[in-house]
Amino acid sequence: MPDLSEEDIQAVVQVLRTPQLSLGPKLREFEQKFAAFVGTKEAVAVNSGTSALHLVMRGLQIRDGDEVITTPFSFIASANCILFERAKPVFVDILPSTMCIDPAKVSAAITPRTKAILAVDVFGYLADWKALRAIADKHHLLLIEDSCEAMGSERAGKRAGSFADCAVFGFYPNKQMTTGEGGMLVTDRPELAKMARSLRNQGRDDADAFLIHHRLGFNYRISDINCALGISQLKKLPEMISRRAQVARWYREGLADVPEDVHVPADQEEVNISWFVYVIRLADRYNARDRDALKQHLRDHGIGCNAYFPCIHLQPFYREAFGFKEGDFPVTEHIAERTLALPFSSRMSEKDVAKVCETLKDGLLYLPS
Ligand SMILES: *Cc1c(COP(=O)(O)O)cnc(C)c1O
Repeated sequence: MPDLSEEDIQAVVQVLRTPQLSLGPKLREFEQKFAAFVGTKEAVAVNSGTSALHLVMRGLQIRDGDEVITTPFSFIASANCILFERAKPVFVDILPSTMCIDPAKVSAAITPRTKAILAVDVFGYLADWKALRAIADKHHLLLIEDSCEAMGSERAGKRAGSFADCAVFGFYPNKQMTTGEGGMLVTDRPELAKMARSLRNQGRDDADAFLIHHRLGFNYRISDINCALGISQLKKLPEMISRRAQVARWYREGLADVPEDVHVPADQEEVNISWFVYVIRLADRYNARDRDALKQHLRDHGIGCNAYFPCIHLQPFYREAFGFKEGDFPVTEHIAERTLALPFSSRMSEKDVAKVCETLKDGLLYLPS
């Protein structure tokens, strides 16, 4: 659920009173403020996180025959972007603790065709960027951060989006901050930012006349209306993040008396997590059927929740195209069968959280013990 204030609404309305609804001053302002927040030199705003991922692939010249090592426990876009450029996603399993990619398994998957590692900061946890950086440097690989779920997470003063060669964010309404639809590519590499600016705008170069196209580009532009909302949301992001942290604490307290059944999300050492979702995990003795029964119980009581994430490698078209099957990535599958994302937003009250916890605990009574 988005957290929109009167100030956000006014910011949007003000743009509507100007003639510049695209490629205007709000675009530049949003990019500059965003880069300053994340701690990168450059930020390039686009119309979705998926578009940003695609521009990363195209901008880094990842193409046919290249392999990109990535995680099967993510939103589908982080793997699809590799397919957009006819490269091959090479999945490796995750760490049970953070649910992010396992660096030891990354090393084992490197071949002469490996071009990049694309790791995801899952649910707000930070991937092991120190280990991933060492592997990338040793094997001369590009390192890409999908930080769409970790806007504002930080380790030792460094924020999500600043750990790899480039990173992407998304601003769909369920993220920590929203622009309605939108995304951002951030990097310290000016040449990548320049290429992304051209590719998002039909292959035009900055100084060009409007109808000169230097390369095959896309229309991945974001409007100044969306950017104005982004600027306004960014301003209150720290406040929204701390309210989400409060909601997470209420959940943790509310579920503290069922530790044998429900594992609540753990803290991450040395990391200030900016929570994207609140995903509980049923104890190992339960299975996917139990989780689905619990999900249905909550839904029957008017509580929206979802099994999150389903494994990417088991999605219908990945099975068909690549022959993936159950058992390929056991850690990911074990976790994916037992997770449940509970309602979560900065707008939830202690009472809202208590109701979810009570209904969930009631639902546990129906599961086999
Ligand atoms: C939200 C998200 C994206 C981007 O999604 P869009 O809907 O295209 O903005 C990419 N990767 C992950 C892991 C996400 O959670």
